[in-house]
Amino acid sequence: TPGVRPLVAGNWKMNGLRGSEREFEAMLERARADRGADLMICPPATLLMRLSAIAGNGPIALGGQDCHAEVSGAHTGDLSAEMLADAGATAVILGHSERRQDHGETSAQVAAKVEAAWRAGLTAIVCVGETEAERDEGRAVEVVLGQLQGSVPEGATHETLVVAYEPVWAIGTGRTPTAEDVREMHSRQREGLKARFGKAGEAIRILYGGSVKPANAAELMAIANVDGALVGGASLKADDFMGIAAAY
Ligand code: PEP
Repeated sequence: TPGVRPLVAGNWKMNGLRGSEREFEAMLERARADRGADLMICPPATLLMRLSAIAGNGPIALGGQDCHAEVSGAHTGDLSAEMLADAGATAVILGHSERRQDHGETSAQVAAKVEAAWRAGLTAIVCVGETEAERDEGRAVEVVLGQLQGSVPEGATHETLVVAYEPVWAIGTGRTPTAEDVREMHSRQREGLKARFGKAGEAIRILYGGSVKPANAAELMAIANVDGALVGGASLKADDFMGIAAAY
């Protein structure tokens, strides 16, 4: 999107022990030379403080992978947005399809988490995406626009919101939609954001996610209204992640 700086964000999911610091250091090293896009890694929360100490004010930002809607309290096992910010995150992934599936998160719950992220000063990276059955039924646009409407509260701007379009059937499968399908889905989401947020909706980044790798990044990132990538598996290794970032 003209005038919009792309974002390549890595979602480590439930992967990474202390040894992963070395991979992150290798990413940092290469990121210093090569800065066509904003870069971010969302490690498991156990690594946030450690990676934050290594990252300093360098070229790779850090994000969480989920947060609770409340500030603090009796919620065993959960983390608040304030805790993520305190640990060095500037963003948080919300409503990832694995959380919608594994934890039954609804769009209304995701919207409450987005409010929490904003309260803590974090950018919300809101994930949407249709299942294969929904696509086969011809409902992909309807499902994704419905999730977007339900998961994003009023008042979003390009600084507080990033959207990640991730077709569920493309996540971790090695399958990707055709360029034409990606173009159509991103363009419909752009229209939805503009209808709701006006001028601000023009600059909100819409990332593509689902089996992005160095070999397909350039083609996917060249599609209109694709403002970067959310990368799962290929974000675990510096070579792969920086190979994707090199698409910019
Ligand atoms: C993701 O889950 O955010 C993702 C895009 O995963 P992968 O790149 O492994 O398909």
